[in-house]
Amino acid sequence: MADTLERIKEAGVVGAGGAGFPTHVKINCKAETVIANGAECEPLLNVDQCAMRDEAEQIVAGLEAVLQITGAARGVICTKEHYHDAVVSLQKALTGKENLALKLLKSTYPAGDEQVMVYEVTGRVVPTGGLPLDAGAVVLNVSTLKNVSRALAGFPVTDKTVTVSGEVSVPVTMEVPIGTPFQALIDRAGGPKSAEGYVAVIGGPCMGALERDWSKPVTKTTGGIIVLKADHPLVRTKTQDFARDVKLAKAVCCQCSLCTQMCPRNALGLKVEPHKAMRAAANNDGKLLGDINGVFSCCNCGLCTYYACNFGLNPAAMMTRMKDGLSRAGVKPEKKIAYPVSDGYGLTKLPTYRLESRLGVTQYESNAPYVREAFSVSSVAIPLKMHIGAPSEPVVAVGSRVKKGDLIARIPEGKMGANIHASIDGTVTAVDAQQITILR
Ligand code: SF4
Ligand code: SF4
Repeated sequence: MADTLERIKEAGVVGAGGAGFPTHVKINCKAETVIANGAECEPLLNVDQCAMRDEAEQIVAGLEAVLQITGAARGVICTKEHYHDAVVSLQKALTGKENLALKLLKSTYPAGDEQVMVYEVTGRVVPTGGLPLDAGAVVLNVSTLKNVSRALAGFPVTDKTVTVSGEVSVPVTMEVPIGTPFQALIDRAGGPKSAEGYVAVIGGPCMGALERDWSKPVTKTTGGIIVLKADHPLVRTKTQDFARDVKLAKAVCCQCSLCTQMCPRNALGLKVEPHKAMRAAANNDGKLLGDINGVFSCCNCGLCTYYACNFGLNPAAMMTRMKDGLSRAGVKPEKKIAYPVSDGYGLTKLPTYRLESRLGVTQYESNAPYVREAFSVSSVAIPLKMHIGAPSEPVVAVGSRVKKGDLIARIPEGKMGANIHASIDGTVTAVDAQQITILR
């Protein structure tokens, strides 16, 4: 097992669907169940769906390897029932594997939330301040499992599959070298040619962040580039100034608590109560915040802001601000489950098409097919921090010749992190504290 873990570490595998937690650290544990997350719960993204359709055998091989490492008795791949081609491929790859199963989910948001998924598979709730392991589970994105399988075959993480959608002429999903500038991908998708008047959401429309600088690079965790007009309602919500949010909380929030009633983490009994965050902000009184453990259990899914609140207020931003404030004050959540799962748990599941309609992105749905072609890029700028943990330390210098797959930066001694490899053949032209640039 130590050798398998070492190979995964050497290859620089990190969580491909989230914040980039180093996989060799995450799976170095004992678990009962390994869950492969193929729900791809954010609208518009097509990355995991394509991986499950075209590389189901690699995903299953990665899952089996993680089962062996963790000693888990069963592995469950969760995906959406309407991903028909992916389901067929997975069923084929799972034939005869008695300890592995497929769980089909409805198309709801946020079906891919780690804690929702753990509950759906195990019937157990991850406590506030806890990890899926507290419910006996390890959750890995299907694209991460694909990378585990590749790592064991000797291939480090050098490429990332990305969906480019929104206001582009030819929406597309394709695999590109890590370090490729967003602009090159947007150009491949046919435009817009100029950055003027447009912005990009990096990631999914709900949880993704706005980016105006399209020279920024694709990382190991980039899943989507959604190009939108600068005056799109989604962009306006994401750019809203916090002071204005507080004014609106004071003037408009009627404490109807719909945001709390629809919160998926609240339905799990975790006391996540965004209406109380609004109340505390409006009155500038932290005592009105309610159970602070619940504040830490907010997953920033944005459902309360983008769907629940009929007044267009921003309770999700308020939760984030409260969480940051508590963390800065040194407050930590207790490990506990506040209440039983709500009787209305099933009712909080929001059909994805309704969310898309509210977000104003319905017209972009399912329009980014996977294109299998060698993406040619003349230079890449590979960040030294694409993961949770310490930035990697360069092992190359300006002028070094590298081949795709060569180690260019490694985990600092005694720290948690991830190795980084060249994503194209070429010459190193710059090395600084942030990134390594390679010119073909
Ligand atoms: S933020 Fe909106 S949904 Fe939540 S309590 Fe206030 S008015 Fe109601
Ligand atoms: S963003 Fe809103 S809906 Fe989502 S978990 Fe946080 S409080 Fe609940």
